[in-house]
Amino acid sequence: MTAPTPPTGPHRPDVLVVGGGIGGLSTAFALTRAGLRVRVLERAEEFGEVGAGIQLAPNCTRILDDYGLLDEARSLGVLPEAMVMRDALDARELTRLDLSDLERRYGYPYLVIHRSDLHALLLRACRAAGVELCTGRKVVGYENTGAGARIRLADGRTDEAALVVAADGLHSVARREFVGDDVVSSRYVAYRAAVPIERVRGNGVAEKDVVVYVGPRCHFVQYPLRGGEMLNQVAVFASPSADASPAGAAGDARWGGPEELDAAFEATCDTVRRGIPLMWRDRWWQMLDRDPVDTWVHGRVALLGDAAHPPLQYMAQGAIMAIEDGWVLAHHLTRTAPDRDAALAAYQAVRVEHCRRVQTTARAWGELWHLEGGERLRRNAVMRARDTYDYGFTDWEYGPTALTPDQEPAMFTPIPLGA
Ligand SMILES: Cc1cc2nc3c(=O)[nH]c(=O)nc-3n(C[C@H](O)[C@H](O)[C@H](O)COP(=O)(O)OP(=O)(O)OC[C@H]3O[C@@H](n4cnc5c(N)ncnc54)[C@H](O)[C@@H]3O)c2cc1C
Repeated sequence: MTAPTPPTGPHRPDVLVVGGGIGGLSTAFALTRAGLRVRVLERAEEFGEVGAGIQLAPNCTRILDDYGLLDEARSLGVLPEAMVMRDALDARELTRLDLSDLERRYGYPYLVIHRSDLHALLLRACRAAGVELCTGRKVVGYENTGAGARIRLADGRTDEAALVVAADGLHSVARREFVGDDVVSSRYVAYRAAVPIERVRGNGVAEKDVVVYVGPRCHFVQYPLRGGEMLNQVAVFASPSADASPAGAAGDARWGGPEELDAAFEATCDTVRRGIPLMWRDRWWQMLDRDPVDTWVHGRVALLGDAAHPPLQYMAQGAIMAIEDGWVLAHHLTRTAPDRDAALAAYQAVRVEHCRRVQTTARAWGELWHLEGGERLRRNAVMRARDTYDYGFTDWEYGPTALTPDQEPAMFTPIPLGA
């Protein structure tokens, strides 16, 4: 690599963050708040987010509160009343979470918000904090230098810092360079939509809940956005033509087309079927993840967010894990300053096991949701038997983010029923 030529300002930053998605921006904010000079390098010409809604569980709203951003997020989103799981064929309720009680238990709310609102909120916070934000900077290579790490841009320029955080998503260049693994295709496809609530009133839609309809080889999610003015919809199904494409064919638009969407939901209940024609039909997301890896830190380059641990989205924790990563990294960089290697080692020691658990549980969750025939009926019976106030499935996930590897999940005082 040639001598560094900084793409923007004259001051060398302490940290380069590659990628200005939710993970990159929230990390840049956290590190700036910790007193570091941070430069974000985003390949797109403008910062932005694609997609519709996103669910933020208490393990994320707790961090937004710490950042002083929760009130604004709350004003932009919706606090739903319940999360309800139903069978997609007969619409029967299988189990639910009472989200008011959930907030009492974990101390922070369950929030749903438009992705672009969350992203814009983080962007404003970064600007106000003094993060240097650069667009049109596609990073194509990484090199450790001893005192730090250097990146190479597509236009040949280079930049360097004591620490580089690669938050460049599922198809991360850093992941390819340092790990070299392939994405794994689940052969499922997701369609999204955000529709004005007036268009779906009368369809049997629960306007104040997150509802997940689980069906044979498919599922369908609905929840309110923007103060209830819009309804977010996600339709996911197994693509019958997916076998034709190798797992690595990311973004291959040949499988999962709209005709497959219609066929996949033909036998579902009324509310789901009436939602399908409203899905965006010009783009869809093939559901890819990666096998968990133990090493996210490569010299002074740290993988973060989907670059480190891309999950299938069934636990709704991908963006949350990215936000947690940045919060933990900032904590350790402050705690061990000026020893950055110690901070990176602590970051990796704390985060890998938790994220592995989310990734593997998300895969298992997908299998459970998509069961067919007799297995579906047995699943339904087990789910219906669950006590609404049994938090055995969520304590490890929604409890406070651990800062040390041996930190026990926080002890929660069970809330008496009817309290
Ligand atoms: C259908 C669906 C629903 C989901 N629902 C939820 C949910 O409810 N809750 C939740 O927490 N998660 C959810 N997720 C997961 C979540 O969207 C991702 O885990 C999260 O967006 C990852 O954030 P990230 O910043 O790590 O990566 P990304 O969002 O992929 O951002 C990466 C950024 O890096 C930039 N970039 C890429 N390559 C380069 C390069 N070479 N140089 C410079 N910049 C580069 C990209 O342009 C982008 O801006 C969902 C995912 C899907 C598909």
